[in-house]
Amino acid sequence: MEIFKTKSEIRDFIHRQKSQGKTIGFVPTMGALHQGHLSLIDDAKKHSDIIICSIFVNPIQFGVNEDFSKYPRQEDKDIELLKTKGCSAVFMPLKEEIYSSENITKIMPQKYTDVLCGKFRPGHFEGVCLVVTKLLNIVTPDVAVFGQKDFQQLFLIKKLVEDLDINTKIIGAKILKEQDGLAMSSRNQYLSPVERNIAGKLNTILKETLANKNLEKGKREILEAGFDKIDYLEFRQQDNLEETKDFNDNTRIFAAAWLGKTRLIDNISYDA
Ligand code: AMP
Repeated sequence: MEIFKTKSEIRDFIHRQKSQGKTIGFVPTMGALHQGHLSLIDDAKKHSDIIICSIFVNPIQFGVNEDFSKYPRQEDKDIELLKTKGCSAVFMPLKEEIYSSENITKIMPQKYTDVLCGKFRPGHFEGVCLVVTKLLNIVTPDVAVFGQKDFQQLFLIKKLVEDLDINTKIIGAKILKEQDGLAMSSRNQYLSPVERNIAGKLNTILKETLANKNLEKGKREILEAGFDKIDYLEFRQQDNLEETKDFNDNTRIFAAAWLGKTRLIDNISYDA
């Protein structure tokens, strides 16, 4: 597996692959890889000849009081995992390689960022959209895979690619979960054993809430389970992110809740 730190190196590599007729599948990540990330690689393999991953903890998508500095970084372990997974190359740029000192261009979605995570993390999706645009322009993949765990992110990236005529097919991948239902996440490493035990209950409560359609009861149960704070627990339509009281194959329950300093998110489709 090739490891590239600069744009010019990875562009040369991709140029060589494309001139041999290879199609490129891309899986962008922030590292601290887990099985959820690796499942995206499996999905990408179904659609392309070779797989390229990126590992970049994007500073501009973190708010000032968020966990950028303590976000887990385990590059050597990540590289070993990607090698065993048959990834052809990994792009691991330094911050300076991605952002010049005067990066004046922003990508500002004009809709869909005032709800769900966007409401609670101002500026987050602008940071995501800029880095994803840059990465897609550097890697120029045929397909790129993003997890449904970050459903609003996947939704905005699909719009972004359509709006900016980026020639990459965006594929959404299902959420990989631990045995007790906890959505896998690099941030799960932050959880103490007691918090980890509580964390698994979120998914169970979401399933129950989808069945009984009672959000207030769901919120009470999340707090009773031991969560410290709920950012949101909502039913929304998955094709426009609007709140809904209808239950059909377009309905999804979305949640974000805090355990100590760790913020967990999850979502489930009504027809899952
Ligand atoms: P991150 O490293 O957290 O930025 O995630 C990189 C990609 O992996 C994003 O597209 C996420 O949605 C996806 N991802 C993270 N956790 C999971 C999971 N448990 N199941 C599936 N995809 C995931």
